[in-house]
Amino acid sequence: MNTSSLEYTTDLHIHTVASGHGTTDPATEVIRQAAARGMTAIGITDHAPAFPGSCKASYFRSLFLAPKIRYGLRVYYGAELNILDAKGKVDLPEDILEKLDYSIISLHNKVITPDPQRDYTDAYIGAMDHPKVLILGHPDDGTFPADYERLLSAAKKKAVFPELNNASLMPDAYRKDCAKNDRIILEICRRISLPIFLSSDSHGGKGVGDFGYGLSLLRETNFPKELILNGSDLNRVHPLELKKKYA
Ligand SMILES: [Zn+2]
Ligand SMILES: [Zn+2]
Repeated sequence: MNTSSLEYTTDLHIHTVASGHGTTDPATEVIRQAAARGMTAIGITDHAPAFPGSCKASYFRSLFLAPKIRYGLRVYYGAELNILDAKGKVDLPEDILEKLDYSIISLHNKVITPDPQRDYTDAYIGAMDHPKVLILGHPDDGTFPADYERLLSAAKKKAVFPELNNASLMPDAYRKDCAKNDRIILEICRRISLPIFLSSDSHGGKGVGDFGYGLSLLRETNFPKELILNGSDLNRVHPLELKKKYA
């Protein structure tokens, strides 16, 4: 992994192999590796139930019982919610959402079939209203076209922050036109002062905290550091406080 990534020691978009049942804890190995790497806070955000093969609602229902400090690391427990329709309906019920630390909203082609002629801006915006929605997941994915000016101006009003997803920028990324779209997104974020999260979208422990591709793009576009939310203080300050700060 790129060691320069350790400038930022928090990562709020990480997946485990959560199975939704049993007594073993699928997060342990991810957390152990993150701690060994010098991270200070991480967020476990497994795919919500509509994603094929992911965990069931019952997994998310009991997450609030999991220990918040492990291996000296502040661990938050959220979900990567699937946007299900044009109105922005998501795939966990209110009583579970309210117990999570926060959530990410994403469009996935394994959940809804993308139509390249459609505009998905309103689907994203409709999903932003829940108070636990903190992060706009990989909005750079051109598989789901969106009007970035309108999308990010709504995100600013609702204090939802786009991520710069490292997995989107990998050479073998399966998402579409991400680098091109990220440049557009970063330019708008800079202009309207909308902060972003760097995220790994790591599936498992190996890539946790690896923001190498994202950091390269930020350097190249001279993106202001004050608009990057991955501060080490996230081990003390709950991420949802950022919504209040920027509302
Ligand atoms: Zn995703
Ligand atoms: Zn993800």
